[in-house]
Amino acid sequence: MEPTETTTVKVGELEFPPRKVWMKTYGCQMNYHDSERIMSHLSGLNFTKTDEQSDADLVIFNTCAVRDLANQKFYSHLGEMKKLKANADINPETGLKKNVIVAAGGCIAQTEGKELIGKYKQLDFAFGTDVVDNIGEMVYRAYAGEKKFAVTSWDRSDNYSIETKITHGSPMAFVNIIKGCDKFCSYCIVPFTRGREKSRRLEEVVKDVRRLVEFSGVQEVMLLGQNVNSYGKDNGESLGQLIMELEEIEGLERLRYTTSHPYDVTDDLVEAHRNSKKLANHLHLPVQSGSNTVLQRMLREYTAEHYLDLIGKMRAANPHMTISSDIIAGFPNETEEEHEATLRLLDQAQFDFIYSYAFSARKGTKAARMNDVLTDDIRGRRLREIQNRQLKIQEAIRQGMVGKTYRVLVEEKGLSKGVTKWTGRTSCYRLVHFEPETLERDYQWHWVDVEITSATALSTQGKVLRDLGKRP
Ligand code: SAM
Ligand code: SF4
Repeated sequence: MEPTETTTVKVGELEFPPRKVWMKTYGCQMNYHDSERIMSHLSGLNFTKTDEQSDADLVIFNTCAVRDLANQKFYSHLGEMKKLKANADINPETGLKKNVIVAAGGCIAQTEGKELIGKYKQLDFAFGTDVVDNIGEMVYRAYAGEKKFAVTSWDRSDNYSIETKITHGSPMAFVNIIKGCDKFCSYCIVPFTRGREKSRRLEEVVKDVRRLVEFSGVQEVMLLGQNVNSYGKDNGESLGQLIMELEEIEGLERLRYTTSHPYDVTDDLVEAHRNSKKLANHLHLPVQSGSNTVLQRMLREYTAEHYLDLIGKMRAANPHMTISSDIIAGFPNETEEEHEATLRLLDQAQFDFIYSYAFSARKGTKAARMNDVLTDDIRGRRLREIQNRQLKIQEAIRQGMVGKTYRVLVEEKGLSKGVTKWTGRTSCYRLVHFEPETLERDYQWHWVDVEITSATALSTQGKVLRDLGKRP
């Protein structure tokens, strides 16, 4: 039976009255998707989501370990919980409910779960990245009175088999196709926090997406993995093959995938970009650096020339394709010349946008053990130079959109300087803002054709030419 606001659900020996969960997610799309899975499992134990921490019976932090900043944010939030939880028992008005249960999941919990439990009195349990689907069991244990446990085991089975869970009513869904990463780039913590690569079988993914399209009204799917280009290697299948199979699903309008490693891009994937009508006109392909010597020290297994050649092939396969990337500024001992090579690559690659980060040493990785001479100031300055160079490139690209018409799937409404605007994404993953024809008009999840009227490096404004409704 579906739980309602007032019914109590009996699971095993325990009664579960309606309760609230507050969740904070840090980091990448994989984590956001894991949070969605967690929420879906918890609804079976009568939990609904709350945006107010003070309303919550259960607080979950889904953590990220990729850079120090995300780490620090989590520790600071966890620190705040100590006082709040201690006060809650005396005076619940102070911010948390009495008897609230606090849990931490995700990448930090995977590697440090047991230490966290020992160190932080306010933390009731911790769980790693490979046991997300067992969250119901862990919450059950906590309500059965068991406290201070950590579950950080790996799934040792050969298969990776799941069913996508969605808890929202939107036509966009994330679908995990591969987990883990075998690449061990020298700076990256992910292989340690997400384990070895394991792909779902192609047939299972196709069935899953068909179900989402037919029964949950999904129209746009983002295929997810730390390195989706490795998809299927363990089963003799490939991402290109999967895309062409998904192409056949009637009612599926757009397909995206993220994130990719240039080394694993195969010819059949390039061909999928040429032949697929549903694959979006966008590719996120992290390059990390424009310097071959830095790429070598990063253990990325390609050169800047190989990368530029690859994006050239992609653009030849689909001339409408936009390409975005990730860049790390100030990798250990990066010289000024190596940094300049990255600035040059930005000019050559003409990325649509980039995510850029200052190098952050992650304990346990090879790069963290390098004797590094760079200072935070140098890294900060190089990061600003990269970002400023990219903004100029982006502005010129966006100016080229003015006067053209794009089909947009509308995601949300907001207020910008007192003016109501709707926002959606083009197939090439660009955000477009537009004013409604009338304030009452509801464009939520509509497909609209928008003519771009103005653009800056970061934002694009347009006017609606045609509202196609909820199906294009
Ligand atoms: N799998 C993707 C790939 O191959 O590029 C990236 C996944 S990682 C979670 C996302 C981005 O974080 C990376 O592309 C990289 O730019 C950045 N990143 C990872 N480790 C980092 C570190 N130690 N310092 C700074 N940025 C880092
Ligand atoms: Fe990290 Fe490299 Fe794996 Fe991406 S491919 S998740 S950067 S180790």
